[in-house]
Order: sequence, then C-alpha cells, then structure tokens
Amino acid sequence: MSDIVLAGVSVAYDGEPVVRDLDLTVASGEWLALIGPNGAGKTTILRAIARLVSFRGEIRIGGRAVTELSSRDVARKVAVLVQEPQMPAGMTVAQYVLLGRAPHLGYLGKESSRDRRIVRDVVRRLALEELASRPLDRLSGGERQRAAIARALAQQAPVLLIDEPTSSLDVGRQQSVLELIDQLRKEQELTVIAAMHELTLAGQYADRLALLVGGRLAAIGSAAEVLTEPAIAEHYRAQVKVIQMNGSGTAVVPVRN
Ligand code: ATP
Repeated sequence: MSDIVLAGVSVAYDGEPVVRDLDLTVASGEWLALIGPNGAGKTTILRAIARLVSFRGEIRIGGRAVTELSSRDVARKVAVLVQEPQMPAGMTVAQYVLLGRAPHLGYLGKESSRDRRIVRDVVRRLALEELASRPLDRLSGGERQRAAIARALAQQAPVLLIDEPTSSLDVGRQQSVLELIDQLRKEQELTVIAAMHELTLAGQYADRLALLVGGRLAAIGSAAEVLTEPAIAEHYRAQVKVIQMNGSGTAVVPVRN
C-alpha cells in the first residue's frame, strides 16, 4: 500500500509561507495532478512529500510518517523526477539510468543481473536504446528528459512524484511518456502525483486534479469539476474555452480575443 496522506502541511521558505495548512489524501494507485499558476506551491508539495524540504504537519506514505523513515527507505518508496535534474557530466544514458537502482543495491553497491534487466527494460520502454551509450551532455533537452524519466522509473518505487513530466517533449513523446507512466501505474499500482501545466493532458491522465493557488487548495476533483472556464479565468488570468470531448476528456484551449 502506498497511499499518501498530508494533514495540516505547511512549508515556509525564509519565514515566507508557500504551502498553507494543506490536507490531501491520494489513494494507492491513484494519479493526482497538481495544477495551478506559477509559484502556487506545486513543486514545494512534491519536495515535502519526498522530504527534500522541512514542513509542519504530517505526511504519511503507506501509513508511515515520512519523518520516521531513513533516507534509504524514502528513496525506496518515492521516486522524484524534478524539473531540471542535475546530470553528471561524462556519464552515459545507461549509467545514469542505473543510478535509479542505487537505493536497492547491497552493501558493496554492485548491481545485480536483475538491476541490469530493469535498466534495459526502462531504456527500451522509453525508446532510448540507440542513445544508451551516448554521454548525457550530448543529448537534446527532450532526450535528457526521457533519460531522467527512465532513471526515476528504474527506481521502481511505489510512489512517483513528477514535476512537469512533459515540459521539453514534443506532442507525440508527451503522449507516449504519459501512456507509459499510466501503464506502469496499472501494472505496479504506482501512486503518481504530478505537477502539470498542460491542463488538457492533466485532465486526460489524472484521476483527480488538485488546483493550488497561493499554497492552498482552491479545488479538487475530476477534470470536469476542476477545469472550468471561470476557475481558469480567476486563478490563471487566462481566457480559455473548455470543451468536453465525447469520452476523450476535457480540452482546455486558449482563446485570443
Ligand atoms: P511553477 O509552476 O512556476 O513551477 P510552483 O507551483 O511549482 O511553480 P513552487 O516552486 O513550489 O511553485 O514555489 C512556491 C513559492 O515558493 C514561489 O513563490 C517561489 O518563489 C518560492 N520558492 C520556491 N523555492 C524557494 C526557495 N528555495 N527559497 C525561497 N523561495 C522559494
């Protein structure tokens, strides 16, 4: 079980509150999209769950408070895909993806044939085979992003936290990466929390959307409940048309007057 419960969670940077008294429950195997304007606190919530920033209140994963877990336990439970991952210069894609196995390696830090099989599998699923021996600093932005996704998936943690999974990807790769995450979610009962700016994609892939504004929850629910023209106009100051597409989700289309 990898359900996630946030109870009264607040985060401040230099005394400035950016997440305020947040209550949120994400079921095991659920995909929750965190949406909201720039600076709303989406990344900070992901960082708090992964214990990368200190917080007030309580965060539990599978019933255990994250503050009581060792760093290795957190790394085994939670894979985090940040917006601009640091990538060691000179390392190849395959070596980098193998880093995702680090929380599982034994005392001597030597990978097993199982670790290598898992790496080969995610490299294949992300269509990175041809790039596997290429150094990371000789990849395009989108290729680097796919390598980062592969590393996070190789970690095989039951909770996947993603900051903007598709920001550098072309539309085809956006769809294939989100499909892959969704497929793995179903196969492995991954719990996914993803900060997403692409509202149409958020509505298509997430079970529920949580709209954050100024560190507080302004709305939570299905795409049809949260992605409304008045809410997007109010909170994003954006003019959009929201279109319900017979069985294919909710499309949010910018409108120019
Ligand atoms: P975006 O959509 O732009 O990625 P976000 O919703 O993910 O934004 P956060 O990155 O969580 O927002 O930032 C929330 C607030 O906290 C912002 O006002 C930001 O300037 C501030 N902030 C983020 N990181 C730090 C930091 N390390 N020190 C001080 N303030 C920070």
